[in-house]
Amino acid sequence: MSETIFNKIIDKSIPADILYEDDDVLAFRDINPQAPLHFLVIPKKQIATINDITPDDYTIVGKLSGIAALIVAEHGEADKGFRTVMNCNEYGGQTVYHIHLHVLAGKPLGWPPYQERLK
Ligand code: AMP
Repeated sequence: MSETIFNKIIDKSIPADILYEDDDVLAFRDINPQAPLHFLVIPKKQIATINDITPDDYTIVGKLSGIAALIVAEHGEADKGFRTVMNCNEYGGQTVYHIHLHVLAGKPLGWPPYQERLK
């Protein structure tokens, strides 16, 4: 599996605005924020897409949501609400092939997030 820019953030060879780190999870602000608070929560283990998650990964993938909520609460946005999104492959809009939970907070978020009619 080829490495992504997120491996460089994990090994600190490129900088990131890190919000949380432990042995198996890292969270950092998105470089191109789409909301007042927009960060990514990633496993340190590289899993390319949601399609590559195995039962061994279920615990770590669940932890991404728990850490997301913790960080949102630290920023005082939990009660107002927020959104988590994990894009998958081309149609899902995935550009970095190391799974990451987008967390968006700090403003009302539109839904649905697209304008096209269902075909
Ligand atoms: P996705 O399109 O779902 O794969 O999301 C990838 C996200 O990674 C985008 O929102 C990018 O803005 C973000 N991103 C790419 N490079 C960096 C970086 N060096 N630091 C922080 N966020 C990044």
